[in-house]
Amino acid sequence: MSSDKNKKPKSNDGSLKNTKTVAKLIQKRKTINPNQLFDQLVKGDRIALAKAITVIESARLEDQAIAQNLISKSLKKTIKSFRIGITGPPGVGKSTFIEAIGKHILKDRKKLAVLTIDPSSQVSKGSVLGDKTRMQDLSANKKVFIRPSAAGETLGGVARKTRETITLCEAAGYDTIIIETVGVGQSEIAVHSMVDAFCLLLMPGGGDELQGIKRGVVEMADLIAINKADEDRMEMAKKSRAAFKNAIHLYPPNENGWDTKVLTCSGLNNKGIDEFWKELQSYYTHNIKTSYLKKRRTSQSKFWLHETIINHLKNSFYQNPQVAKVLADIENNVIEGKISPFQAAEKLFDSIREE
Ligand code: GDP
Repeated sequence: MSSDKNKKPKSNDGSLKNTKTVAKLIQKRKTINPNQLFDQLVKGDRIALAKAITVIESARLEDQAIAQNLISKSLKKTIKSFRIGITGPPGVGKSTFIEAIGKHILKDRKKLAVLTIDPSSQVSKGSVLGDKTRMQDLSANKKVFIRPSAAGETLGGVARKTRETITLCEAAGYDTIIIETVGVGQSEIAVHSMVDAFCLLLMPGGGDELQGIKRGVVEMADLIAINKADEDRMEMAKKSRAAFKNAIHLYPPNENGWDTKVLTCSGLNNKGIDEFWKELQSYYTHNIKTSYLKKRRTSQSKFWLHETIINHLKNSFYQNPQVAKVLADIENNVIEGKISPFQAAEKLFDSIREE
């Protein structure tokens, strides 16, 4: 009688052979070939683009190396893209507006990517923007790519990933990129620093602060739309439009000589949307003619370079074991008035330099 000892285990149960096969499969699935992924992405494969973005969002070290490889390759594939930021308070009609304007955009341009930065997801791990079924028609369109931001990240992290995602989308041939965010926190400032045109949607009636928009956001806007200007609200919308136009005149003139436009529209009824898109295109053309587009993008790249350096320095400072050891004591000394905050900071830096 032959012993069972040397028999190969059956493969259709939880046996050793099966486990090895599964492990191999998992290993295979995890190994990403960046060249292959990039080739597919450039050909316009939306699944490859989604995968590449997931790699960028991943915190795993091996993924980060692949991500940098993909970004370097993508940066060489420059196309004439138009990056549009859209912000406004929750419920102002951003997704309805994007759904409506997206159809007009696709008449003039090749492909549209819609990226959303949802600051609420960082706090609640749920999302104001993502929970709803949004932009259903656009989602079904093969020329459109929609992607929400990664949840549970710091705003700085999300901003970086969004900028890298823009680079990937452009390499994939998306010549128009919309970046949408709720305009009630810091995320709209980050978005402003990565787009060619920054649009603010507001509702008829009530100033910006009443609508929960932070001071300064109106000033940053290149185009403002009083949305939900339905027929029965047209009068109120016109009044709001006049009020915002007046308010804008109090700000210093725009660097590029552009007069910020305030329009009325209704995303739901597709009214004034074509006009808005035409105005956006005029703005883009104006910036190309005056070379302002190039200037704006250059200063944005510089801004993100220095932002990143500052963040790295800050992290490495606070993570330094010597700083961690003495920080609480120094803080107490400052609170008790034994040492000034400035002397304390110098002392902390000196303690690192001495290391
Ligand atoms: P978001 O939170 O800014 O993305 O807003 P949504 O696009 O989800 O719209 C919020 C609500 O406003 C929804 O019930 C929409 O149907 C409605 N809405 C959007 N646009 C308009 C509009 O132009 N007129 C009216 N009356 N309602 C609108």
